[in-house]
Amino acid sequence: MKHPFHAVAIDGPSGAGKSSLARRAAAQLHFLYVDTGAIYRSIAWYALQKKVPLEQADAIAALLPEIHVEISYGADGLQHMLIDGEDITAEIRRPEVSAAASKVAAVPAVRAYLLEMQRRLALENNVIMDGRDIGTVVLPEADCKIFLTASDHVRAQRRCRELADRGTPVDYETVLEDMRRRDEQDRTRAVAPLQQAEDAVLLDTSAMNFEQSAAALVQIIEEKLAHEA
Ligand code: C5P
Repeated sequence: MKHPFHAVAIDGPSGAGKSSLARRAAAQLHFLYVDTGAIYRSIAWYALQKKVPLEQADAIAALLPEIHVEISYGADGLQHMLIDGEDITAEIRRPEVSAAASKVAAVPAVRAYLLEMQRRLALENNVIMDGRDIGTVVLPEADCKIFLTASDHVRAQRRCRELADRGTPVDYETVLEDMRRRDEQDRTRAVAPLQQAEDAVLLDTSAMNFEQSAAALVQIIEEKLAHEA
């Protein structure tokens, strides 16, 4: 029997606009938006709280059985991350959590632990899921795969604007450097590295504004799903 739900996988480097664009497309198409980076960020937040050395994969893996991580969709329709019932959705956006997230995400036990949670969401809903390995590892059978990217300068500028809007401005050079370090870590790790799936459509938004990028994304998804139907 054919899987009753549709899945759209969006992967790409940090700051490519995946979350905001995926959220917009999901709202427009009435799909559930799943931000998988937020799950890795939650594990990283917990490891930082527990002061576990992030270089020690074994110590990170040992934490997993005690972490009660949950995804909840609030009345606002937004994805909230909870650990032990505490809403840490805002906390996990801090730059130190971003850096820690790409470290814990390189630990194979962490990836294995989170795989089931991500796949379950796609089994029970029409999803637009974004991350680094959605089209390659988490949902290799997704109906539509998109690799979303932009030049690193454009991505750093956008991230600077986003941090300033959130009231936590960081200078451009620092943002660019952090982003490059994180991308390098995500692309070169042994397990589930960031890479474009063979059957993914490449969408480079360097020369597009938000509305143009959103329109291009929705068009790719609609064409792909119409073709699948
Ligand atoms: O997407 P976001 O920047 O919030 O992700 C934070 C980090 O989580 C990424 O830098 C990456 O290391 C990791 N991640 C991952 N696989 C995913 C989603 C995020 O490794 N599917």
